[in-house]
Amino acid sequence: MIYVDGDFRISPAALPGHRYSYPGHEVVGEVIEVGDEVQHLQVGDRVTLQSGPNCITSEAQPICRSCASGNYSLCERANLLSGPEPIGGGWSEELLVHEQQLFRISSEMNDEQAVLLEPSAVAVHAVLRRLPQPDEHVLIIGAGSIGLLTLQVIHALVPSATVSIMARYPFQIEQATRMGAAHILYPQDSYQGVERTTGAKLFTGTFKNKMLLGGYEVIYDTIGSKETIHDSLRWARAGGTVVLAGLSLHTMQLDLTPIWYQEIDLIGTLAHGRETWPIGTHEQCSTFSIAAEMIESEQIHPEKLITHRFALTNYRSAFATATAKSRSRAIKVVFDFALLPASVVPNVRASARQRHPVTTAAVWPQEQQSTHEETNLATSPDEYFIQPVSAFAPEPVEIPLPTTPGSIVEIEQAPQFSTEEQSALEDQNQTNTSVISKPKRSRQSTQSHKNTEDIQASAEAIGNTTGTNPASDTLEK
Ligand SMILES: [Zn+2]
Repeated sequence: MIYVDGDFRISPAALPGHRYSYPGHEVVGEVIEVGDEVQHLQVGDRVTLQSGPNCITSEAQPICRSCASGNYSLCERANLLSGPEPIGGGWSEELLVHEQQLFRISSEMNDEQAVLLEPSAVAVHAVLRRLPQPDEHVLIIGAGSIGLLTLQVIHALVPSATVSIMARYPFQIEQATRMGAAHILYPQDSYQGVERTTGAKLFTGTFKNKMLLGGYEVIYDTIGSKETIHDSLRWARAGGTVVLAGLSLHTMQLDLTPIWYQEIDLIGTLAHGRETWPIGTHEQCSTFSIAAEMIESEQIHPEKLITHRFALTNYRSAFATATAKSRSRAIKVVFDFALLPASVVPNVRASARQRHPVTTAAVWPQEQQSTHEETNLATSPDEYFIQPVSAFAPEPVEIPLPTTPGSIVEIEQAPQFSTEEQSALEDQNQTNTSVISKPKRSRQSTQSHKNTEDIQASAEAIGNTTGTNPASDTLEK
């Protein structure tokens, strides 16, 4: 059972829901079957899941304004779409989805990078919602995978910005420092930390009411809790901006007075879509394309966040690892189909193994250690990598194989899922997962319109849906 902590009084709860929900939207795989009407993909293509259903994939008419502009995450019909629904998620061995929900990746990107393309796009979108200017002071709250990816993106796009990051655990601080954070804020003396790093002036009123004059020009809150939003509004300097990247599924009572008294801009960000890109132009580009370009050109390194891998059958251990960050030192936990036992889906496993990427030097779960350790350690010494504590013995669990519906397109992936999502479960409410190369089956029950030559182009020109949620990092208490 997956537990999601939320409140039925929040706005999405008023909307019609989807009939089924499949866990896992951070996923990379290979197309193993296509339908007759599929135009932009073929068997053997490597793809990642870009979106959920939307006007384009459902052939809704007229296409809503968001989808028409490429911002599929903001589809105004997402909860009202009719037609076939996708089947399977990142945690299944195969998925069946519309081709327009997929983003084809090049051979330049390995599976570990590709499985984290989606959260990378989340970070790119968050940063482009309010791009720091050169030499500005920036704060990132939360040093989970979205926080660290945001750090990498800012470092790549605005290298002269001074970036502080608020982290809870020593291993997060270590990672953040290696990835270019200039200052670390500690939860226990955060207000003093803001004063120290920005030159702001701290005042304390009655009831321990603290406020700063001065502070950061931009704050990316990747946690999104009542506490972090409260603090963000007070840590931004007058005229500054708070970008809400972390998502809370709760109503909350907050002091919003800094928004008036300091003219703070509070900006929301959801997943990804379409951006004005390159910076300084009026051209448009999909967030996924930008993130892919940044990965391929080695401007960002999402694969460095992967600390643990598990076979899908070991999902209990994966969850335990992801939720006990302080012991496991987990940042991103992934499922990898290459780790599945021989009795499970042989064709998929073989394909995943062939493609098994150069990896970071994670400590493998004991059971798999012998399989991968050599390759990993020999091929990629990873300066960013920290050795997680392998306190979690894999516990083989039998799970039923998914039933695969007759479909038009199948994708096969070597899956990994990321568990920062669990951490979110722990404190907040989010469940996001990534899957790396796992076999997935993509459905195209709907024929794709759009006569674009290339799926990436078409994916840009079109919208997909808001199925993917931005992963929110969580500071564990
Ligand atoms: Zn739409």
